[in-house]
Order: sequence, then structure tokens, then C-alpha cells
Amino acid sequence: MPNQSPLHFSLRQLSSALHTKKISSVELTQMYLERIAVHNSTLNVYITTNAEMSLAQARHADARLAKNNSHALPVISNLTGIPIAQKDIFCAKDWRTTCGSKMLENFIAPYDAHVIQQFNEAGAVNLGKTNMDEFAMGSSNETSYFGAVKNPWNHDVVPGGSSGGSAAAVAARLCAAATGTDTGGSIRQPAALCGISGIKPTYGVVSRYGMIAFASSLDQAGPMARSAEDLALMLNTMAGFDERDSTSLQRPPENYLRDIDAKQSSSSQPLSGLRIGLPQEFFADGLSDDVAQAVAAAIVEYQKLGATVVNISLPNSKLSIPVYYVIAPAEASSNLSRFDGVRYGYRAKEYSDLTDMYQKSRAQGFGAEVKRRIMIGTYVLSHGYYDAYYVQAQKIRRLIAQDFDHAFKQCDVIMGPTTPSTAFKLGEKGDDPVQMYLSDIYTIAVNLAGLPGMSIPAGFGKNKLPIGLQIIGNYFSEAQMLNVAHCYQQATDWHVRIPPNIINDRGL
Ligand code: GLN
Repeated sequence: MPNQSPLHFSLRQLSSALHTKKISSVELTQMYLERIAVHNSTLNVYITTNAEMSLAQARHADARLAKNNSHALPVISNLTGIPIAQKDIFCAKDWRTTCGSKMLENFIAPYDAHVIQQFNEAGAVNLGKTNMDEFAMGSSNETSYFGAVKNPWNHDVVPGGSSGGSAAAVAARLCAAATGTDTGGSIRQPAALCGISGIKPTYGVVSRYGMIAFASSLDQAGPMARSAEDLALMLNTMAGFDERDSTSLQRPPENYLRDIDAKQSSSSQPLSGLRIGLPQEFFADGLSDDVAQAVAAAIVEYQKLGATVVNISLPNSKLSIPVYYVIAPAEASSNLSRFDGVRYGYRAKEYSDLTDMYQKSRAQGFGAEVKRRIMIGTYVLSHGYYDAYYVQAQKIRRLIAQDFDHAFKQCDVIMGPTTPSTAFKLGEKGDDPVQMYLSDIYTIAVNLAGLPGMSIPAGFGKNKLPIGLQIIGNYFSEAQMLNVAHCYQQATDWHVRIPPNIINDRGL
């Protein structure tokens, strides 16, 4: 056990410290709550904290740990007593669950999402609900009704979206790990811009039950943490079949630490035999020099670890933004029709009749980006335009998935940048939705194909802001991808760097 603050412990080290009573869950939870009290007013990472509820869970975890002494390491999914931040898109019983929207500003969830239930069963502590783009629509966290999140590396720039609160909370050591969701890049992009690790699993691996729906055929939850090893531990808790989600996949239970733990050999080339595909389309115009250089350096590191490089092509990936921005709004327009002011959520104070009540509640309750998506979605689904837009988009979606099928005949994983640049200035793209949508260029095709994708820290740009390396795997290859990321993290130290001034002299 390293002799340092638990703020720097990996999840396994934390679990070990909890099991050996070097620290209690209540102490750990208090420590994070105190840090949140110090930093949240600046970073705006949490929308809701509830010390009473978090500490009750921590006391419960301590009681469970006291009974369970024999349960020492190694553990594969032991999160008992560990404080986790939950993206505010997951319903958590008795917690305010806003999805970053005025529409749900006062909504107290009456039940737990499957993901929350899994963490509760594991004995983890819910440390609070993290800020996010409204209904997960955005790439910068600026569409949140609760205000933008600040990037812990530089308060003038965005943390990335939509899971920006979770990414910033992990980077600023305001939780041990966090959850996110990724419809078009919302785990990977903020992970890249905040210098942390995040994985979006294969579609269907993590249940969407109780996760407020944006675009159901694309939405997938995943963990955000400091290292690939931590992600694997988190995913062991989050994944698994759930009959309440009709797209949840029934597969044999997986141990996502499998490959990481198997590769304990001291070989200097632990990845020999691994074929890395580099898609030419990911290194073309629009990629900033510093990101291109950092990715190239990471590939050289991978070659040192024994991997070989194959040039591949994903010819239809250039169409992924227009395709996504037809399909995602179409699904969103349908999903968001449930917010009608009748059953739950915001209701306008004054209205003349039922139709007026619907109109005013939705007009006042949704922000501009959400309204834009609802209008686009309604348009592309409407009679006369459905074939021209929605059906065409679905056809191209198939071609995008086929490109990946073809690529994975030539390589085991695909690598490239996660984002075209490092974090941009707050407000910089606010007036230009198309510019904002272009930030998704490298992440969206992965969602359209339903593949797993992750981002890990791989250096810093000219402006000292973090850069992410994206790793895309074939369906259900998460354990392999996590090990590919882990081997890189064993050889480099980008993932352990922390933002400046994030820990004060009192250790807070
Ligand atoms: N930036 C994309 C969008 O705004 C993706 C968001 C997400 O993955 N939730 O739709």
C-alpha cells in the first residue's frame, strides 16, 4: 500500500484499504464530501449531493466490511464502501434526478436504474449526481440548465460533454470513479478533454433501464475512471443481462479484468501479435497538430510494446455526423414526448387549456439545444421526409457498420484521436451548432455500429491541456481493449498526472 493520500489510490488499493480497515467508508466519503464543498462552487461538477444519504450508505458499507473480513484481495468487483459519482441521467431512488434539465429540476426518482442497483448491491456509495449537457445533448457540457462545468485543467475551457461533470469529478479527485453515458461520444470526449480514462461498451452490455433515454439505439452507459484497471473493475459491476431492457444482451458473465490479470508476465512486449488499425480518415484534415503528434507518439509506444500497425480505411465514416444528426434527433423527438407536464416534470404555471399547457410546459422546460433536436427529429420522421432522411440515414448506418466489419478482418483494435483538438474555450462554439457537432467526428461512427470504444490519456497539447487516444474494439472485446490500454498505462504516466492546484495545503 503506497504511503500517500487515498485520493491517489486505484480502486483496488482503495478496496484493500477498506478491507484491511486502514480507512473506513465513512472517512473516505467525508473526505470526498469536504473536497466537493471546497471545489464544487468553482467547477460546478455536481448538480446534487446529499451528505446524509451518502453517509448512510457508507455506514452500511462499513458494517458489511466488518462482517466480511475474510474477503481479502484479489477481488474482481469489490466496490464495497467506495464513493462513486453518478451521472445525473441515472434514476436513483429518492435522489433528485434532473438529466441537466429544468424539465426535471425537482424530479425525485421513485426507483433505481439498473446501473444504480448494481452499484448498491456491490455496496458502493453514491457520492452525488454529476452535471451534464441537458438530456445528454452536447459535446461541451454547456447546454446544462445548471450551468457549464469547468475543466479542472483550465477553468476557461470546456470539460467536454455530455458526461463532463463525471469526467471533471474524476480528474479533480472529487470521487473515486464515475459513471457516464455515450450516445455519440459522451464518455470518450470528456474523458479525453479532462485527461481520464473512459469506456463505452458494446451496445447492450449495460442495461439502459432507468437511464433517461436520449437516442435509444445509440445510448450506452459505461465507467469513467483514472485507469483502464479501474474501468475494468467498474464494468464488472455495471455489465450484465437485465430483462427490463429489451436490448440488454444475454451473454455468459464476463470478467473484464481477465486479460489485465492474466498478463502479469514481465515480458517487455506484452502486446506482441496485436494488430493496430489506423484509419486514414482519422488522420486527415481537421485534426490539430498537437493531437496528431500525441497519437503518433502513442502508436510508437504501442510498437515498443510489441504491436504492429496496419493502415485501414473506414470510407463511410465521413458520413457519420449527418447520419447521427438525423437518427439521434429522430429517436430523441419520440423519447422526449413523455415530458408533457402531466405525469412528471415541469408544468407551466399558467395556461388556458390542455394544449396550451403542453406547449407552455415544453417551451419553458426545455433548453434551446433540446428544442432544436425535437424539431429536427420531428421533421425527419414526418410524412414526405421520412424516406428522404430517416430511411437514408439508416441505410448509411449499415454501411458504416460494414466498414468496421471489414476493418476488423485486418486488425484487432483500431486507434486514433478521440477529439480533433484539445478542450476549446467556454462559449467558443455556443452559437454554432454545426461546429459543435463536428467535435463528434471520431466518436460517433462507433455508436452507429454499436461497437465498444474507449479513450485514455496520451499526452498534452501546446496549451497544456490533455489529449485522448481512442481505442475501438470489435464487438464484446472490452476485456482485450482494457488490457491494451492497461499495458500502455504500465509503460507511460499520462493517466496519473493531476490538474494543477486541485489539492490544497490541507489536502483538500
Ligand atoms: N455530442 C453528441 C450529441 O450532442 C453526443 C452526445 C452523447 O454522446 N450523449 O448528440
